[in-house]
Amino acid sequence: MVHATHRLLSATLTTQILIALALGAALGLGLNYLAIPALQDGLVNGLFAMLGQMFLNALQMLVVPLVVFSLLCGVVGIGDIKILGRVGGLTFVTYLATTALAVITALVFANVIGPGTGFESVHLAGGNVDVAAQLSTWDILANIVPKNPINALANGEMLQIIFYVMVVGIAVLMLGTKAKKFVEGCEFMNELAMKIVQIVMAFAPIGVFCLIARTFALEGFSLFAPVIGYLTTISLTLIFHLCVTLMVLLYVCTGLSPLAFLKKMRSAQVFAFSTSSSNATIPASMQCVTQRIGVDRSVASFGIPLGATINMDGTAIMHGVATVFLANAYGMELGLGGYMTVISISVLASIGTAGVPGVGIVMLAMVLNQLGMPLEGIAIILAVDRIVDMMRTVVNITGDAVVTTIVGQRVGKLDRAVFDDPHAGTFDPSGLEIDHEAERAFESITHQKGTV
Ligand code: ASP
Repeated sequence: MVHATHRLLSATLTTQILIALALGAALGLGLNYLAIPALQDGLVNGLFAMLGQMFLNALQMLVVPLVVFSLLCGVVGIGDIKILGRVGGLTFVTYLATTALAVITALVFANVIGPGTGFESVHLAGGNVDVAAQLSTWDILANIVPKNPINALANGEMLQIIFYVMVVGIAVLMLGTKAKKFVEGCEFMNELAMKIVQIVMAFAPIGVFCLIARTFALEGFSLFAPVIGYLTTISLTLIFHLCVTLMVLLYVCTGLSPLAFLKKMRSAQVFAFSTSSSNATIPASMQCVTQRIGVDRSVASFGIPLGATINMDGTAIMHGVATVFLANAYGMELGLGGYMTVISISVLASIGTAGVPGVGIVMLAMVLNQLGMPLEGIAIILAVDRIVDMMRTVVNITGDAVVTTIVGQRVGKLDRAVFDDPHAGTFDPSGLEIDHEAERAFESITHQKGTV
């Protein structure tokens, strides 16, 4: 009975988040249509902006401790450096391959649909985008080794954190039984981090509502009209990559049901859509992949944060479509060399770029720069980039989860019983109750200490 009630409540949280998403979008569009300055100031740029930002901050607050402790426990849990190397190598290569596949699909779709042909050149005037300081692939690789691990942690440098934590994990394995107390401490810290994730997730409906309402109130529909061809091509390619390429890959490599997989990933996808940030979605993705899908923590705690940084299938799709769109609009011919450049820059740029909102546009500037195309065209794409960012981030994090699940299955770290249980890992509200017995025990401990 108690279990059944929990199930009902847990289903309600995901449903609540979806309802919040729909209500937020409807209210946002309504506010955009009404365009009442007092509401825009007080509600959209006031209350919604504040609560949305609080939620985003809270999600980001979870990332570093969660990644550090779960990865540390994961490395120690695997216990064998050879398996660790296999997991790492397989994950890395599959990430690069799926990103390349994504951008190739985008180039094919964009060439067939042909967005941007006949686009009025007046739309392309004005606007400027700075290309971020471009690092060479060698620099990106050199920077994976942190000079100062505390800096890496403080700045949330994901690749540096992963590198450092793996070195610590390997050193712990070498120390053997001497490190027992440290490992127990990390296990506890990991449990603590997961508990904090649960607390923050409980506020997800409010956070999602505010983020979505604000986005739609600011963007509305009017921006979409001039670039409807671009938006349609991107949406179709993203849907194709998510529902066909990734799901066929999952099915062929693991035999898992794509439908059940997508259902289990739904809450993380809603997070990705509302936050436009793979990084901020790491806690939600980790929960889905470990507790709902059944991938062992040792694989997921490596694959998910790594994927948030180096695997961006949706972003690569945007690069492919945007390049063809702008080439068509400018009446330029890309040619095979141009396509190869798009593919290689898109894949390489994704390695060194963190999954945060809008970063895909900066990477697009690198691609256009390399092709010698005028950067001004980005202005028109920028106008609708928020909504495209939301969609492509969903594909980015689903790609991370698919690859992590495939790797988990390949190295024997996927629990089929968890995957086959439709209710596994759903939100359990009883986990958020305060244990009053423990509270009294703490009280007596602190009291005794105070009186000594
Ligand atoms: N927002 C995307 C992500 O976090 C990156 C991008 O395409 O801008 O994955």
